Amino acid sequence: MSAKNNIENFLINISTNIFLELDTQGQVLYASSKAKHIFNSEKLVGYSILPLLDASNRDLLISRLKTVIFKTHNDSFSMEFKERFYNVFIYPYQKTGIVCMEDITERRQLSQFLNKTKQRLEFAERTARLGYWELNLEAKRFYWSAEMFRIFGLEAKNISQKKNIIREHILAADLPLYKEKIAQLLKNNHQVEGRVRIIRKNGDLAYCLFKASLIFDADGERIAGTFQDITPLAETENALSEAKDEADRLNLAKSYFLAQASHDLRQPMQALNMFIAALGSDKLSSSQHNLVEKITASANNLKSLLDNLLDISKLDSGGMSYHPKKINLSRFLSHLCGEYIDLAHHHNLKFKYNLPMLMIETDVHLLERIIRNLLSNAFKYAQNRVFITVKQASGGVRISILDDGCGISPKEQALIFHEFYQSSEIADNRRQGAGLGLSIVQKIAKIIGGKIEVSSKIGKGSAFCLWLPIKN
Ligand code: ADP
Repeated sequence: MSAKNNIENFLINISTNIFLELDTQGQVLYASSKAKHIFNSEKLVGYSILPLLDASNRDLLISRLKTVIFKTHNDSFSMEFKERFYNVFIYPYQKTGIVCMEDITERRQLSQFLNKTKQRLEFAERTARLGYWELNLEAKRFYWSAEMFRIFGLEAKNISQKKNIIREHILAADLPLYKEKIAQLLKNNHQVEGRVRIIRKNGDLAYCLFKASLIFDADGERIAGTFQDITPLAETENALSEAKDEADRLNLAKSYFLAQASHDLRQPMQALNMFIAALGSDKLSSSQHNLVEKITASANNLKSLLDNLLDISKLDSGGMSYHPKKINLSRFLSHLCGEYIDLAHHHNLKFKYNLPMLMIETDVHLLERIIRNLLSNAFKYAQNRVFITVKQASGGVRISILDDGCGISPKEQALIFHEFYQSSEIADNRRQGAGLGLSIVQKIAKIIGGKIEVSSKIGKGSAFCLWLPIKN
């Protein structure tokens, strides 16, 4: 090929492509300066190009060249040469072929990079079940990512870009919220988000979290949004909330039953105590007297169990109210402790209390429930002595009930406050309650604004402390 026209020559030289004119044997009739540079030879014209190519490129080029020249139609293929990639176009020209090699190395790398990024994005979208959509506000055209179609159960090919399919699929009850959020976005240009239910193409209900923002760029003004399918999470939440409602209902029914049962049992219980009292006269033989004592102990246990059940049901239903008033704590406690002196004698226990003068404001009945519970435990487990001390501490008062009993292992110190928990380490003959006392004590302490702490050492004894705030 002889270049007659200067402009054509100039164009060939500034082009990034490589031009060659070859005959059917691969003989070079023309080579642009870039061709000489790529093939690294000034002497291309008059020589065969074939020795400069590797075997596979050589065969490919020569067979395509011959077909183009003989059949006089264009052809193209890709080839790799010296670690670069080319699109090769061959055009028939008289009895030769014009070969144009377009270097696509960078374009190929870019397209590979874009493909990888697209794959990664699609993977992330699929894994997070997060679809992306856009609405071009001028052209009124939608773009949906593949995951959007999957979430809505639709196929891209059947959907017009002009249709607002999101609205069509949102459940009627949730549509006003969605419309309101989009209107807010258009008005204030602040990101909006919400939760809606959609009906998929197959009729299934899906729960989605949507977010939307406005973007302005060279492509115009658009709404860009996401829809995240949170159906499994929402279904678990629904199941949990149903289970909680059911548990609350059962708990209420339990409390009602407990309250009713313990209330109904109180009258026969009182009658039983009266009959036992009538029995306990001097006329009884010693074995009969023994029997009456055992019946009395069992009746007392039954009564304390009933009292505990009634307390639990009251606490669970919020029926235990707090009526504070100012009291002289030392007077109140010494009066209460006085009632336990006989019991201490009976069990051969030393019982001491150290009660400084102190005024506090609290609910006297609730405080009494706590102290009685802790004292009766202390008497139950003590070996030789029970102490009560009262000290002012950290903005309040600490009432401690100490015994030198079997103690409680660190592992059990939290468990003993659970309902119905009884230590496996306590001998059966000591176990008279139902494991409710301390859970009641803890709940009542909370109602009166206090807290219960325990410290104990196995074999040495236990200290149960009630801390109460002192209001100025
Ligand atoms: P109960 O009414 O059955 O005694 P509580 O709730 O009062 O139930 O006590 C639960 C458990 O805590 C008891 O079974 C016992 O193991 C342990 N406990 C409570 N007070 C003491 C104490 N002073 N010394 C040792 N163990 C105790």
